[in-house]
Amino acid sequence: MSVTSAAVDVVLDYDEAIARFDPVMGLEVHVELHTATKMFCGCPTAFGAEPNSQVCPVCLGLPGALPVVNEKAVESAMRIGLALNCEIAEWCRFARKNYFYPDMPKNFQTSQYDEPIAFNGWLDVEVDSGTDGAGGTEVFRVEIERAHMEEDTGKSLHVGGATGRIHGADYSLVDYNRAGIPLIEIVTKPIVGAGERAPEVARAYVSALRDLMRALDVSDVKMEQGSMRCDANVSLRPRSGADPRGEAQLAVPLGTRTETKNVNSLRSVERAVRYEISRQAAILASGGSILQETRHWHEDTGITTSGRVKSDADDYRYFPEPDLVPVAPSRETVGALGETLPEPPGQRRKRLQAEWGYSDLEMRDVVNAGAVGLIEETVAAGASAAAARKWWLGEPSRRANAVGQDIATYAAGLGFTPAHVAELDRLVTSGRLNDSMARQVLDGVLAGEGTPTQVADARGLELVQDDDALEAAVDQVIAANPDIVAKIRDGKVQAAGALIGQVMKELKGQADAGKARELILARLT
Ligand code: ADP
Ligand code: MG
Ligand code: ZN
Repeated sequence: MSVTSAAVDVVLDYDEAIARFDPVMGLEVHVELHTATKMFCGCPTAFGAEPNSQVCPVCLGLPGALPVVNEKAVESAMRIGLALNCEIAEWCRFARKNYFYPDMPKNFQTSQYDEPIAFNGWLDVEVDSGTDGAGGTEVFRVEIERAHMEEDTGKSLHVGGATGRIHGADYSLVDYNRAGIPLIEIVTKPIVGAGERAPEVARAYVSALRDLMRALDVSDVKMEQGSMRCDANVSLRPRSGADPRGEAQLAVPLGTRTETKNVNSLRSVERAVRYEISRQAAILASGGSILQETRHWHEDTGITTSGRVKSDADDYRYFPEPDLVPVAPSRETVGALGETLPEPPGQRRKRLQAEWGYSDLEMRDVVNAGAVGLIEETVAAGASAAAARKWWLGEPSRRANAVGQDIATYAAGLGFTPAHVAELDRLVTSGRLNDSMARQVLDGVLAGEGTPTQVADARGLELVQDDDALEAAVDQVIAANPDIVAKIRDGKVQAAGALIGQVMKELKGQADAGKARELILARLT
């Protein structure tokens, strides 16, 4: 058995871990709704405001303050539930989850417990179907246990320690601006049958969920800002049979799980699950047992470390919230909300791929680059789908990657728009610019020099439209190169390339290479 030593725990090689154990996951994703106001009061929710400037007696938990539920948040919760193919409760209540924490001034979180607003759903996610990188995909169905409403906590800032954690800090500050922002917690049923693909399925699920929230327009879903956060539960059970979806395997009882908290990027979700599988496998393989605990994910080192022993639900002394009325949406309301659902993101991607005529591989690159929406807008602004893909996935995508931003955010930050790309494409198709000039224009637009037309004007970029100048250059080059001309006359048409190169040079790159080629061949063949 190959066991390697990590900084904290011993881990088993991943392939060996999977050969011996069957992983089971449960993903709990918190989505912060982008409602204008908080869940139970009228305080604004804008990100990044002065600490404790967006608070009131309700979200500070002052005595006597009474909460009122945010209708828009309940509506968003139901739309999320419907989009996740859930049943919507006919009647449900909020509950108090009691525990003390300095960032939670009421000493309880208003949440939902045994009466979630939405339950029993599913979400289909796409994973790569092979290891050949050919771009084929396969659907994996993740069952949803529940989606419930709750409120966010405040934020603690630990000052003076080296790590920003409470241990070793001199003092702590607390900002209650986030306290009371509406959250939806979406909890999966145990995800079984993923086998060695478990980490990939976890990532694909969170990614699909993020796409869905964007399509519903209910949240900013910015994992790096914490408006979408994932806790990953992982357990292992012994392997029984070769097929992770086989009956023998499904009959094996679930093992003890750990819950890795606040995994805040798609890549981290995949890495954290993978790490936990290897770590737990090493313990089980050496005859040990897994402690049910929460664990912390460390992005820098790629490991998890022990958090606290997991509380049971009993410890929270849940009870129904007496200050809020039950939520009892009529079936007409639920039906009407169902009508507002967007086209499911997976279906939309398939439709657009067909409309744009992209190969699976091309579409995958576009999706991975986060450029679907940008290309859609660029095509709507008049560009061809091929040109839109080419321009977005070239320089802009490269630069966005280099600074670690998604391309839409990066482009928006520069004021670089789909209309610019469509204009650039028009300058090429109308014959004003050739490809290499268009690249220079793009550089100028990205540098903030103006629109493509303005940049082309300012930099004097324009193909020589004057046919006389082009013909003169062609004649001159033909006269100066009798050897090459002889070859072309002998039928070696590919030799024309050398002449075209010289024509381009003669005209300082501002010639239409296609036209030059036509002229040369017309004269010599
Ligand atoms: P908690 O209150 O501990 O967060 P939840 O019910 O909210 O519990 O979420 C637990 C998550 O872990 C769910 O997604 C559930 O499906 C999953 N889960 C439960 N048991 C196991 C197990 N043995 N292995 C892996 N995941 C599990
Ligand atoms: Mg939970
Ligand atoms: Zn408030």
